[in-house]
Amino acid sequence: MSALSQEALRRGWCPSTLKPMETGDGWLVRLHPPGATLTPVQLQRIAALAAEHGNGLIEISARANLQIRGVTAESHPKLVERLLTEQLVDEHEGDGPQRVTLVSPLAGRDPTGLIDAAALVALIEPRARTVDGLPAKLGIVVDDGGAQALDGFSGDIRLVGMDARSAVLCLADRLWLGPIPVTEAAPTVAAILRDFAALRAAAPDQIRRLRDLSSEALASLSTLPEAAAPAPRMPPRRAGLFALENDRFATLVGLPFGRCDAETLDRLGAALAKADIRLSPWRGLAFRDLDRTGAEALLRLAGDLGLITQDDDPRLSVQACAGSPSCSRAEAPTMTDAAALAAAAASLLVQGVTLHVSGCVKACAHPTAADLTLVGRDGNYDIVPGGTTRDKPLATLDLSALLTRLQPGQDIHARLVKAGRSMGSQG
Ligand code: SF4
Repeated sequence: MSALSQEALRRGWCPSTLKPMETGDGWLVRLHPPGATLTPVQLQRIAALAAEHGNGLIEISARANLQIRGVTAESHPKLVERLLTEQLVDEHEGDGPQRVTLVSPLAGRDPTGLIDAAALVALIEPRARTVDGLPAKLGIVVDDGGAQALDGFSGDIRLVGMDARSAVLCLADRLWLGPIPVTEAAPTVAAILRDFAALRAAAPDQIRRLRDLSSEALASLSTLPEAAAPAPRMPPRRAGLFALENDRFATLVGLPFGRCDAETLDRLGAALAKADIRLSPWRGLAFRDLDRTGAEALLRLAGDLGLITQDDDPRLSVQACAGSPSCSRAEAPTMTDAAALAAAAASLLVQGVTLHVSGCVKACAHPTAADLTLVGRDGNYDIVPGGTTRDKPLATLDLSALLTRLQPGQDIHARLVKAGRSMGSQG
């Protein structure tokens, strides 16, 4: 492992284009397209570069980051050179976050949105980059208050549109403040970031994120009054056809477990002459600004390519890390097993039961609890119902025994039915 990668792992930096992270199948290179948008030709170029300089596997993370896998020490400089020359990356110096905001892939064009979250993101990102001392993993969720609710994503700061002119703000997902005029949102967020960076500078090892602050310190970041949390909304639709403003459409597709090969990406790009492509935090791509016929044709093509095109696809309820052979720490082939598990538990997953398949305890794909967490151990899985990878397992099973016990009438199935019911009663 290179000295740079060792340092990156030690400090928990997000891997980025210039600082790749070493994994079992080589270096993982993260790239942020300029302005967070791609054309079909650019998508094809990224696919071609992933095949040429990596192992041809491409991922979209749950923070909507694009990642090229299987890059080597020899191929990395050439890949970076191509990405920079072809203006496919938006890279900046320093150890701070590359991009801080998380937004709906339909933002700015979604007729259900109460505010223009894309415009807000364009104001927040450059301001955040001027603040020194922010942690690399800091996240700001900008939710337009419409149908594509982002409640499922954690954030150090969250903005939620309340009406066309105002938004509420939440710190560390626990302190709601506001409302504030949308025009003041970006400077308000920048001021909070500056004050947070100052608090962090005094104790960088103890304060990594806003959630590490005491209630008093968190409250000291803003003079805004406390506010009620917005009313809960229906869960968002994570895949399918969407009507946009001005009689245009978007096709939102998911990559199974956040991953696809270069050829698949190339085929999607080649199918379109023109589109505004955004990365989706539901681990996929939104192809925006299409006419209805084009959007429907693309959805059919994506389905034929094995991608997720419907919101009730059970694979959307499964989080799986790269696993073996991609990751050197993995003790199980999570990706292939996740496909078998998603098929076996489909009826539970479409009801919202969550499954996390992790190659080891590190939990890269999903650090929090799931209704069923599986942790790779010597080719088998530790079974943790309703917990995280670090909780005590109920048993250790091989895949075939696990698939059997997920069938109706078996104990793990019964536990998950119960988890699904309790979710239903909460909703
Ligand atoms: S959870 Fe473990 S096995 Fe999976 S990608 Fe992370 S380090 Fe690798």
